[in-house]
Amino acid sequence: MDTIISHLCSDEKVNNDIFGVAGKILRDGGLVAFPSETVYGLGGNALDSTAAERIYAAKGRPSDNPLIVHLAKVEDAEKYCHTNELFWRIAEAFMPGPITVVLPKRECIPDTVTGGLDTVAVRVPSSESARKLIEAAGVPIAAPSANISGKPSPTCADHVITDMTGRIDMIIAGDESDIGVESTIVKIDDNGMTLLRPGGITVEMLSSLGDVTLDSAITGKLADGERPLAPGMKYRHYAPDTRLIMLDGSDEKIYEFLSRSAETDKIGILLFADEIDKFSSLPITCVSLGEHDIESEAHSLFKMLRAIDTHGCDIFYVKVPDKTGIGLAVYNRMLKAAGHEIIKL
Ligand code: AMP
Ligand code: MG
Repeated sequence: MDTIISHLCSDEKVNNDIFGVAGKILRDGGLVAFPSETVYGLGGNALDSTAAERIYAAKGRPSDNPLIVHLAKVEDAEKYCHTNELFWRIAEAFMPGPITVVLPKRECIPDTVTGGLDTVAVRVPSSESARKLIEAAGVPIAAPSANISGKPSPTCADHVITDMTGRIDMIIAGDESDIGVESTIVKIDDNGMTLLRPGGITVEMLSSLGDVTLDSAITGKLADGERPLAPGMKYRHYAPDTRLIMLDGSDEKIYEFLSRSAETDKIGILLFADEIDKFSSLPITCVSLGEHDIESEAHSLFKMLRAIDTHGCDIFYVKVPDKTGIGLAVYNRMLKAAGHEIIKL
């Protein structure tokens, strides 16, 4: 399949033409990848079950792993799900933004979009490009992340071009995703709020609206056959081919450990830019995560995970992040990339 690749620019007219072409492709049942503040999405018409099937095929994604329905404005939510008072409080506080809410679905959303569940996940992106695309399409857009299933989610156009060229109708190439990890997913039911996936809207932020229960799949390992509340959490994700291991300990202990480990294996470590000097005397590859703050780590994590395999190492290490704020999302994605391998030093 030929894939149209269109680059957004500073000229509004050019961009509007791109959204016009993309909107028509979506209405006609085709697939368009687009930028958003979280990661790039792979969109299809959320009211068209064939489009949803095409999304699963393009990603190589199991069809029991449901898609998120993206809306241009929060007022549209009631058309696609049964909203409640808590939903509107979340919407008031955090939408548009990097948060997805799971609610009972309405009939118009096909079962293929929800992987057979009777709930649907809805989100209103804060990215202007994403919202313009949804408006141009005139239909809600079902979209998971625009990566091949199992690979790290794409945070820049090049990742999408690598994964999706030849598999979908169009790629809208825009800026790097600001946040860099996928949206927070929260389920609302009679038990209140359950966090299914941590993201840019943090537990601390949600807690201002009521109690938040954490799904055990966020920080724990699922037992064989166990079904998590967000089906996607059971799949191996984000994994580089190189073995990734998380290290939990002081810099001194980590230095000693790496020094021993380098005697037998070709190793690398992901570090903040200002930590590299401490480890640069070791015969290991040090890769910078950028500025020393958790937002930067979230922003660059997936890019780093994609790059790990280019360094020719046997093992890559990364320090366990602090789990507060967006750190919980970084920790959750890292755990999956590391196949839950943590060494306590
Ligand atoms: P992605 O953003 O590509 O990771 O895919 C969407 C995520 O939303 C997956 O982890 C799904 O399991 C989750 N999701 C979508 N719809 C639902 C739903 N109705 N209930 C629970 N989780 C959902
Ligand atoms: Mg994904």
